[in-house]
Amino acid sequence: MSTKPQNFRKAVRQNIKTVIDYIDRNYVLRENDKAITPSKDLICMFCGRDQSITKEHIIPRWAFVKDTKAFFTVTLNGLHQTYNKATIPACSQCNSDLLNDQERLLQQLFTGRDVKKEPFYWDGIQEIIRWLELIDYKFQIYNITRRFRASKKVGKIDYLVDFPLYMLLPNKDYTPFQVLSAIRRSLKRLSVAKKHKHLNSLVVFKSINKGFHFFHTIDEYIFLELPQYQIALFYFFNEEFGTVKEAHNQAMSIIKKVY
Ligand SMILES: [Zn+2]
Repeated sequence: MSTKPQNFRKAVRQNIKTVIDYIDRNYVLRENDKAITPSKDLICMFCGRDQSITKEHIIPRWAFVKDTKAFFTVTLNGLHQTYNKATIPACSQCNSDLLNDQERLLQQLFTGRDVKKEPFYWDGIQEIIRWLELIDYKFQIYNITRRFRASKKVGKIDYLVDFPLYMLLPNKDYTPFQVLSAIRRSLKRLSVAKKHKHLNSLVVFKSINKGFHFFHTIDEYIFLELPQYQIALFYFFNEEFGTVKEAHNQAMSIIKKVY
């Protein structure tokens, strides 16, 4: 196996504090009840390095068919946020060490597979879990580094304009402390290779839908439909299950509510 993903995890593990401090200083802390202007010196949101910063897409475009516009839209207080072109800063090292290698591996895993006849083995499941954890983390970073934007339709909403998107996400009431804890937890997950305890937390469906569905609650669960591979994935980031059947039942009840 390539040592590159190991290098990536080590770099993440050693620099969690650097990244969290940077996020706190630039995006979370407020002075006199006002947001601080973030530094123009970007760092890699995985390893904290401040050299050769590139833009990493939060939504891997290979995984979906072209028109992702409607798909990756989250409505916040009546305004749409579209994620399909969203990026976060990552250094070229992390980008090639993990992100590229991992995406290639996932593509191989998904291509030409009928998941009903040919379910994933545990090593494939671990690979998928790592990928979903990465997506969760990227969403968190994007949402903490972006402010709520005014829209042409609704105009500027003064009392919101100053806050990171993260604090305004539906389903949750995030305090600054909770935001930083969730991001720290998420980074820790990325630094750990083994996902043994979580193998039952991933539910794989064969999907025959032509359209796609996506929903995600940061630090809780994610549902992704990959129409071109006829695969749908549901993953619980924190919960552990005795059997995959239990996870399946819980996933189904959430899907029914959200659909
Ligand atoms: Zn990096």
